[in-house]
Order: sequence, then C-alpha cells, then structure tokens
Amino acid sequence: MDHHATTPVDPRVLDAMMPYLTRAFGNASSRSHVFGWEAEAAVDEARRQVAVGMNASPKEIVFTSGATESDNLATLGAARAYRAKGNHVVTASTEHHAVLDSCHVLEREGFEVTYLAPDRTGRIEAASVAAAIRDETVLVTLMLANNEIGTILPLAEIGAACRARNVLFHSDAVQGFGKIPFDVEAMSIDLASVTAHKLYGPKGVGALYVRARKPRVRLEPILHGGGHERGMRSGTLNVPGIVGFGKAVEISLAERDDEARRLRLLRQRLFAGITGDLTGVSLNGPPLPALESDGSLPPGVEDRRLPGNLNLSFEGVEGEALLMSLKDIAVSSGSACTSASLQPSHVLKAIGVPDDLAHASIRFGLGRENTAEEVDFTIGAVGVAVRRLRDLAPAMART
Ligand code: PLP
Repeated sequence: MDHHATTPVDPRVLDAMMPYLTRAFGNASSRSHVFGWEAEAAVDEARRQVAVGMNASPKEIVFTSGATESDNLATLGAARAYRAKGNHVVTASTEHHAVLDSCHVLEREGFEVTYLAPDRTGRIEAASVAAAIRDETVLVTLMLANNEIGTILPLAEIGAACRARNVLFHSDAVQGFGKIPFDVEAMSIDLASVTAHKLYGPKGVGALYVRARKPRVRLEPILHGGGHERGMRSGTLNVPGIVGFGKAVEISLAERDDEARRLRLLRQRLFAGITGDLTGVSLNGPPLPALESDGSLPPGVEDRRLPGNLNLSFEGVEGEALLMSLKDIAVSSGSACTSASLQPSHVLKAIGVPDDLAHASIRFGLGRENTAEEVDFTIGAVGVAVRRLRDLAPAMART
C-alpha cells in the first residue's frame, strides 16, 4: 500500500522488455547494422506511446534516467538557458525535493525563487501564481499531483496564467501521469517530468517533455557527451527500460478511468473503516469526494486528490512506532524519499499540520494489485496497532 514510492513491474511490461534484454541488445545510436536499427525502432515506438499519454508529439520526448533527472534538467536547464531574459523562478513549498533542491542550486547561482504557500489542502490557485510572476520571471514549476497528500493542482488555469505572461511552465507530473488526465496542450505546459516506476514500469527510466513549437523551448544540458536526445541528454539509451516505459504508459492509459473508479472505492472503504474504528484520526490534504456506487464522481463533483492516495494523522501515537507495528503492511510516514531524515514532512508542515500530528502521519498509496480484502486487513491492523500504542503511551510517560 505504498504505490507512491514505487510500483511492481506489470508482467505485460516485462514481456515487452525481455527481447531487448536478450536477443535485440543493440545500441539505438548504431546506424550501421540491424542491431542498432531494431533498437532504434523500439525506442521510436516507446517515444510515440509516452507522447500519446500526454498529447505531445514524439519528437518532444527526451528520455532520461528518471524524474529526478528530468526535474533537474527542466529547472536548471531552462533557467540557465533563459538567464539573459531574467533571474526569477516561481515554485511551491510543497514540491518534491528534486525540484526544491534544484531551485536551491539556482539560488546559489544568483536566481531569486518564490516559494508559494498552499492552502490547508495543499492547493495552489492560478491567481497566486499570476500574482507572483514578474517581468524577470523565466520559469514556473508546479507539480500535477502531490506525492504525499495527493493534492491535484489546477494546471490548466496555472498554465494559462503563465502563457499570458510568456513565462515557461514546467510540471513534475510523476504522480498523476497515467492515473488522472494530463494534457500538455490543454494545460499550456512547456516542460513535464515523468517516470516509469510509478506506473508499473521499470525503475531508472523517465522522460522530460520539451515543447518544440509555440514556443520552442531551449535547455542547457546537464549531461554532456554524444549528443543523444537532440543534444539535450547525452548517454546511451536504456532501450529495454524505454520499451517498458512505453508499454506501461499504453496500459495505464487504456485502464486509467476504470482503475481510478476502483481505487476511489478502495480509498473510501479504507477511510471509512479506519475512522469508524478509531477516534482522533485526521485527514491530511483535500477532502474525499462523494462517490457513486461504481466509484465514479456524481455530476459536478470534483476529486482534488489522487484516486489511490490517503494521508492520515493519528493523535497520541508516533508515526515511526506505528510503522514498526504494521510490519505486514507496506506504508510510509511522510515521504519515503525523506523518511531517513526523521524530519516532519515538509509538505505536512506547509499545509499547517502541527509537528506532533505530522510525525504521527501515515501515507497510504493504493494501487493496481490491491484488493478489498487487503484494505479490510489494513483497517484491522491499524486499529490494533493504534490502540496498543495509545495504551502504552501513558504508561511510558510515567516511567
Ligand atoms: N517527483 C515526484 C513527485 C516523485 O514522487 C518522485 C518519486 O520519487 C520523483 C519526482 C523522483 O522520481 P525518480 O524516482 O524517477 O527519480
């Protein structure tokens, strides 16, 4: 139940990859023999599949090692390429560290960065983006959906606000790509980061969408070498990984809406089960929408949270202790990427969750193989663990 951290490789994806790990092992840049041609053709097909998934053109897809690299290339690469135009970047305090830390690098290079504060649900409105844009702004970078609390941002409105001021718009679309609608045209997006391992593809492969026209986006590369990927990302292409990524996007797109309905129902079952059993549980992030019996949204109702995301705080328990007591269930406290640091999550802090409740939070990320039985098992296990820790806490305070 930790699908925001990563997902298993879908067997259909593995089947598509296998020939390129064995017989068809060519270098996609080898122009002089059939091994190279075969690899290049496979990469071309994956480029098409990834592009279709976001309504882009295949030539606008640059393959990378994952979204950390895509986020670095987009933010550093665009800001540096447009330095002569201005030195201001707009982002949000709730972004992933791959974006935030790149912004810190830009600050050390003399850029000014505005970190927008979200509302209590993690939402950032287009009006606050518009208000933050200055004449010197070269880039706005805001994510499609948050990896901890699942908040979906209104990217179409934000993109329109950027376009109106001629400012490039990058989005880290990692968590929402293949799960909710994502369209670089409808959202006026110029750069977008995605990664395969969050949508049942392999780890270590991602892509950056780079708009080719209206406007044609320039990037200063961060990797230098053989000039692959139109000079934007040198390095021999990870052909099997790229093939798997393409297949994973194709499957996710075909199954997206059915899967979203299924996950919303599971999420509702999990929330109702836990809050029906325990007191002192609070929901972090956007409210859960009312659902029809098949998991679809009633007319006029919007889901502002990723379908598989639930983030809860449990009064009177310590998050790490709760995780330890849930040995049979894979969940995370705060974000998996920072859980080594034991700092309260920067996202929960940004939406105003007090430190003690931020420490007592659990992120559930429901995904493709989860079942209603697993959700019921989790409800039972969480109830037992929280009650035991709450019983223990006063006793420990006395010693
Ligand atoms: N951006 C977001 C929102 C993420 O959730 C992740 C996940 O770790 C990343 C970027 C980094 O992606 P990758 O693991 O492909 O480097």
